[in-house]
Amino acid sequence: MLLREVEYAKPASVAEALAILKEHDGARALAGGQTLINVMKARAASPDMLVDLNGLEELKGIELAGDGTLTLGAMTTYTELMASAEARARPILGEVCATIADVQVRNRGTLGGNVCSNDPTNHLPPLMCAVGAEMTIASSDGERTVPAADFFLGVYMTAVGPGELLMRITVPAGKSDGFAAVTLGADGTCIANAAASVNGGVRVALGCVDAVPVLLEASSVDEVGAAVDAAGLQPPADVHASSEYRAHLARVLAIRAARDAAGRS
Ligand SMILES: Cc1cc2nc3c(=O)[nH]c(=O)nc-3n(C[C@H](O)[C@H](O)[C@H](O)COP(=O)(O)OP(=O)(O)OC[C@H]3O[C@@H](n4cnc5c(N)ncnc54)[C@H](O)[C@@H]3O)c2cc1C
Repeated sequence: MLLREVEYAKPASVAEALAILKEHDGARALAGGQTLINVMKARAASPDMLVDLNGLEELKGIELAGDGTLTLGAMTTYTELMASAEARARPILGEVCATIADVQVRNRGTLGGNVCSNDPTNHLPPLMCAVGAEMTIASSDGERTVPAADFFLGVYMTAVGPGELLMRITVPAGKSDGFAAVTLGADGTCIANAAASVNGGVRVALGCVDAVPVLLEASSVDEVGAAVDAAGLQPPADVHASSEYRAHLARVLAIRAARDAAGRS
């Protein structure tokens, strides 16, 4: 289906982008377009104006600090992250990005677009929660930083409000991470997924089982199954999985991801 007519702006700076977003109620940021253009074609979203973030250098780049902290520009594509020597400081990031969809989607899709769309089947929301990422959001009033655990608010809803932009994602140092998913075909959409981090405590974030990632902490890897049971998951049912089967997958994947993470200590 063709797009309906839409205005288009390509700002030269973040300040200009924020001013346009503030001025136009119906304006939406355009990153890789891999979600937004598709939902516009399906008429599930109908912004009046697209504010193209491509070309904003302030949203690009991957930096590795001396203490191992990674700063990832919101407009970093999956392919750029996979190719980045700096990003190998937290290997799980590139490993998971390499399993997202296909090469076209990975070449265009961005980290910022993935987390800002907060599709519950996406790979990155649970991963960012498990690794303890922080999101920096800008508005015309300045910047604020939100932990990933508080960033995801509902299906397609995040802490990025109208007139705001995600600037960057900060990921602390760590190597003991794991990820496990059951997908529709190889590298397809997730039916259930789990990300785990055992850098210090044991943190597991479950995807596809609720509107936002379900973040759990366990005293040890052996306690992860009990932590999932205690969470009382009531996942949605769909054509791919009943609620009970998805809950079962979540438990199996949580344990698998946590063991994967512990194996990398
Ligand atoms: C065939 C196909 C299969 C896919 N399979 C998967 C999959 O298995 N796993 C997975 O995780 N993803 C999957 N995706 C989604 C893909 O990863 C998208 O790239 C991603 O969800 C959105 O990123 P984008 O850069 O394309 O964002 P866009 O589509 O441009 O934007 C998405 C949303 O985020 C907002 N946004 C983007 N950047 C910012 C910013 N900096 N600040 C504020 N708001 C912003 C936009 O306004 C829009 O609402 C798939 C996509 C396709 C087409």
